[in-house]
Amino acid sequence: MQTYGSYPQLIIDLKALSHNAEYVKEKCEGAGIDVAGVLKGTGGAVPCADVFEKAGFNQLASSRIEQLARMKKSGIKAPLMMIRIPMLSEVREIVKWCDISLNSELKVLRSLNEEALRQNKRHGVILMVDVGDLREGFIDTDDLVDTACKVENEMPGLELLGTGTDVGCYGSILPSAGSLQKLVDMTEAIEEAIGRKVKYISGGATSSLMRIFDGDMPERINHLRIGEGILMARDLEVFYGYDMSEMRQDAYTLKAEIVELKKKPSLPIGESGVAAFGRHQVYEDRGVRLRAIAAVGKVDYGSHEDIFPKEEGIEIMGSSSDHLILDVENYPKPLSPGDIVEFSIDYASMVYLTASDNVKISYRN
Ligand SMILES: *Cc1c(COP(=O)(O)O)cnc(C)c1O
Repeated sequence: MQTYGSYPQLIIDLKALSHNAEYVKEKCEGAGIDVAGVLKGTGGAVPCADVFEKAGFNQLASSRIEQLARMKKSGIKAPLMMIRIPMLSEVREIVKWCDISLNSELKVLRSLNEEALRQNKRHGVILMVDVGDLREGFIDTDDLVDTACKVENEMPGLELLGTGTDVGCYGSILPSAGSLQKLVDMTEAIEEAIGRKVKYISGGATSSLMRIFDGDMPERINHLRIGEGILMARDLEVFYGYDMSEMRQDAYTLKAEIVELKKKPSLPIGESGVAAFGRHQVYEDRGVRLRAIAAVGKVDYGSHEDIFPKEEGIEIMGSSSDHLILDVENYPKPLSPGDIVEFSIDYASMVYLTASDNVKISYRN
């Protein structure tokens, strides 16, 4: 879709991203761990993929085939990894555009095998193991081993690269050394059955970096798939108190334009019903205040709790699909329509902002 004008605008600082990418790459390399750099948080933006490729990640990854195809078409050479279980309806594109996928269903694996043979390719697969978080993956060892043997012995179009797990996605389970050891144990059951060692045991995502920081990663884990820990580098500090001061947390700036500036009461006037999207809202009476409306809304960032005014004296009061209401009573400088307000963002709002057709994305080198 065409965007008009310059706002709302999301600025992505590629230097900051590059710093984080190199930092994570180095930390993992030091621990003997390969990394897939996960780009889905930025909508698979190609300039970000370029940064990840330069940092030397072993694979670039996304949960959306469209993003991976775009990377490939734009000249990315690094191996591409699909990190959502492929849909049967997209198997042809999976084999065409990416080198590796994460899998948990025999039916999908058989279809990938047939398609790989048809396209004259060997498609790499990682079997997902559910160690308790209850998102994707085999939960039963016999089922896992049985499927691994079928891939190994009956599917020449596939290369069984190893296993992987997800934690902290649905079930809020931590990547404890114990949970990851379970993955290793189940993988060793496969290795015994197929008579060889697998290349990768992929021990999770950003949260598994805690095992590297703490120095207690189970010996055989040799691969992670990391998105947030590079793109934002915020979660491990905010949720688990890790020191992330060596990483750049300022890679993104959302800019929005003020379209109205008026003194208004803080308590709505009239009979009360519901607000936008049928939400029941509570309002605090702060008297008459100077308020600004910025031309950006939930359609762009999801929830206004995931964006943060950068300047003192600007407070978010609420928002609807396309309007963000700001209390600017305490802002020290005069404001007028046309002025730009800046926000920092988190992972959740980044996902929406980079997917919105109305947000202009620009890059700072
Ligand atoms: C999103 C995702 C990742 C990356 O997660 P982060 O927390 O952003 O590091 C890794 N693996 C899978 C399967 C995912 O879906």
